[in-house]
Amino acid sequence: MTAQSPRADGARVLADLNALRAIGAYKTGVHKPTFSEPHLQSLQWLVQHLPDAGLTGEIDGIGNIIGVSTKPGPKLLAGSHLESQNHAGWLDGPLGVVYALEAARVLNREPDIKGAVEVASWCDEEGHFGHFLGSRSYVGGVTDADIDAARDRNHDRSMREALRDVGLAGRARAHYERGRHIGYLEAHIEQGEALESSGLKIGVVTSIVGIWQYRISFTGEQNHAGTTRMAIRKDAGLALAKFCVAIDERFPSACGPRTVWTTGRITLDPGAPSIIPGAAEMLFQIRDDDPAVIARLEDLLHAMATEVDKQGRCTVTVERLRTGAPAMMDGAFQQAIEAASTACAGGKSQRMPSGAGHDAQILATVMPAGMLFVPSIGGISHHWTENTADADIVTGAEVFVETCRRLLMR
Ligand SMILES: [Zn+2]
Repeated sequence: MTAQSPRADGARVLADLNALRAIGAYKTGVHKPTFSEPHLQSLQWLVQHLPDAGLTGEIDGIGNIIGVSTKPGPKLLAGSHLESQNHAGWLDGPLGVVYALEAARVLNREPDIKGAVEVASWCDEEGHFGHFLGSRSYVGGVTDADIDAARDRNHDRSMREALRDVGLAGRARAHYERGRHIGYLEAHIEQGEALESSGLKIGVVTSIVGIWQYRISFTGEQNHAGTTRMAIRKDAGLALAKFCVAIDERFPSACGPRTVWTTGRITLDPGAPSIIPGAAEMLFQIRDDDPAVIARLEDLLHAMATEVDKQGRCTVTVERLRTGAPAMMDGAFQQAIEAASTACAGGKSQRMPSGAGHDAQILATVMPAGMLFVPSIGGISHHWTENTADADIVTGAEVFVETCRRLLMR
């Protein structure tokens, strides 16, 4: 960055983020489920601000906005999402949209800057109706039948009804044009405490971890809880509980440095205290960016299941429900973010994977993609207390605009 390089206007970025926070405010955060009134108002806010950046765009038939430029030269797509989790934070999503808008405002009218930043707001990243429906629609991964089948997890209504309620039914969906963009850049709050705890300002995302999900089922023998002696019981619930503990004891020696695993819903059948459960089931998830690590942990799960089988009381099956290949972020994008961090954030950056899913992982399937993180205070997110220091928001905006400049000027 030279003294003449166009820079982000930090006060304008903070004002925009606070304007979006005031729409659907909940305590110090927001409540903006997909296709709620505040979500729609936030989308309209963005549409109204696109001309400030020399862009035009409308809300499309799935709730995405793509602000496009007529400026000649390379185009960089940038954005995030404007809906929130229920009763959640003000920055998860809007930060990336406002940074993208700011980059477009600063760079698109600059005759010395080649090309333009185009701004995207992806609908339903937070999954009120599905799984990255907006960005997947843009890359061609959502059929009309998928929309027919999608339902609102907050209310008893289909996605079709919701689209009709907000006046989007019948509108065309925007689709990406092969070769139009040099890539996609997204900024997001970290939603963890790695940056804050090391005093860093920028996370250069290397990959977005894959998510693998399993159903682990235990079969024993249902029997009377009063008359069946402990020594001869085949208690599927007890086998499940022991299995959970065994995972926690044995995974650490086989996992990678950042592997995380979680047991979700546990069901006992029957779940009555007067009956020994004959069957039990747990949902289990592993996240990592290295498929080799996942393969090792999966082998271990199967080996542990075989050990339980051999004890002769209960049998265990491990069934894979979902495989999520990690999304690798583009190397040149990582270098551009790092160079911009050196120029605008005193080099206080580190490379790191993202443990949370983001729209960038969907865009990465069709174009080079990059992501940068800013610190989250206390690592808190998906909660109304989510926050980032104003100074860190401004630094992040400066790094974002400078990254966009570097990518366009390559
Ligand atoms: Zn988000």
